[in-house]
Amino acid sequence: MSSPGTYQCSTTSYELRCNECGKTYGNRPLSACPDCLAPLEVQYDLDSVRGRLTRESIARGPASMWRYQDLLPVIRAFQPDLPVGFTPLVRARNLGRRLGSNNLYLKNDAVCSPTLSFKDRVVSVALANAQAFGFTTVGCSSTGNLANATAAQAARLGLKACILVPSDLEAAKVLNTQVYGARLVRIAGNYDHVNRLCTLIADEYRWGFVNVNLRPYYAEGSKTVGYEIAEQLGWRLPDNVVCPMAGGSLIRKIRKAFQEFVALGLVEDKPVRFFGAQATGCSPIAHAVKNGWDLIEPQRPQTIARSLAIGNPADGPAAARMIQETGGWAEDVSDVELVSGIQELAEDEGIFTETAGGVTTAVTARLLSQGRIGRDELTVVCITGNGLKTTDALHGRFAEEYAVRPKLSDFDQYIRSVEPELFGIQAEPALAGGAH
Ligand SMILES: *Cc1c(COP(=O)(O)O)cnc(C)c1O
Ligand SMILES: [Zn+2]
Repeated sequence: MSSPGTYQCSTTSYELRCNECGKTYGNRPLSACPDCLAPLEVQYDLDSVRGRLTRESIARGPASMWRYQDLLPVIRAFQPDLPVGFTPLVRARNLGRRLGSNNLYLKNDAVCSPTLSFKDRVVSVALANAQAFGFTTVGCSSTGNLANATAAQAARLGLKACILVPSDLEAAKVLNTQVYGARLVRIAGNYDHVNRLCTLIADEYRWGFVNVNLRPYYAEGSKTVGYEIAEQLGWRLPDNVVCPMAGGSLIRKIRKAFQEFVALGLVEDKPVRFFGAQATGCSPIAHAVKNGWDLIEPQRPQTIARSLAIGNPADGPAAARMIQETGGWAEDVSDVELVSGIQELAEDEGIFTETAGGVTTAVTARLLSQGRIGRDELTVVCITGNGLKTTDALHGRFAEEYAVRPKLSDFDQYIRSVEPELFGIQAEPALAGGAH
């Protein structure tokens, strides 16, 4: 078996660095510092792009996350092949009215290409590195969306894919992985069991696991959500960001993106508060924030928000610390509340999100009603996944209607009986609905 190694490239302006001890490791498939076991993070030499990278040069780039290629850890020669990211940022007037905000925006990664979640971004960067390192088989441990994104992009790049998931995953997420020809392995355990197993497999088989040995590169892909928010707001930063948390990576990387834009003079500096959203049934990071801790007490996940169900989040401590540093907060909502969140976002803004987006919407409602977010503050809410993948969450909420005969008189009777007010027609008091 070939043994993928490091890459060195004289023009590479980034390398892995330990968050704790500061030791650097060049570029190699490695996620934790061998000395202190802390997560490794990609560190850039921003001076190498300073001056060269302007608002105009970025705006001239492709309509995808690759317009920020100079700020992503890929070798210079890398040629992006898929238009991932650059999703809409939309004003949410109706939802804002419902929740008590005059200045609410949605970053809509429910429509991220190609697999309808923000995980397409992280996988793009991870697989570019898998190829640079010479891996021919890639994989991931996943709560669902990562599995979809890895399987699809591996197919496109001609890489073999082996993907491990907890056995209780939603059927749509399983199918959305298998359809791309990936080998999907269900593991009898929760995500944390799956992840630990993947660490062992990556070493033994020398496979490139996007969120294990390639994790530092993978995580940088999340920065593109932050770059896009700043650019789409007209090159400025918001007051608040509300972001769902699983491993705790995305929320941190949005902040890193803002800080890099400030350092490069692309946006004016201003304080931005970060708010984390979790489901109560798996809320180790929110729990830590509420208690003022920067350590995580692992939990056993028990929620329908499976894409957020990581009981022992790798970036949890750093995320909790960061939220507190910015003056933000974290909240968690019940499964019942998150389903209402899905419904409200769909009815108010025409966006159908998955359970994670229901969590984020319901947490935003909570933060506004608590007064932690002010009604006039510019607040961006990150919607990270698509509702078609978690239709089970809405099971039984809508009655299956009986079939009306294809006659105007039948339709007339029917609509008067079920929706007299909505369509402004006269009610038919004698009819209570039902087949005739
Ligand atoms: C993975 C995921 C998240 C959380 O990402 P982390 O970076 O692990 O915190 C949020 N939303 C959705 C839909 C996801 O799939
Ligand atoms: Zn270290």
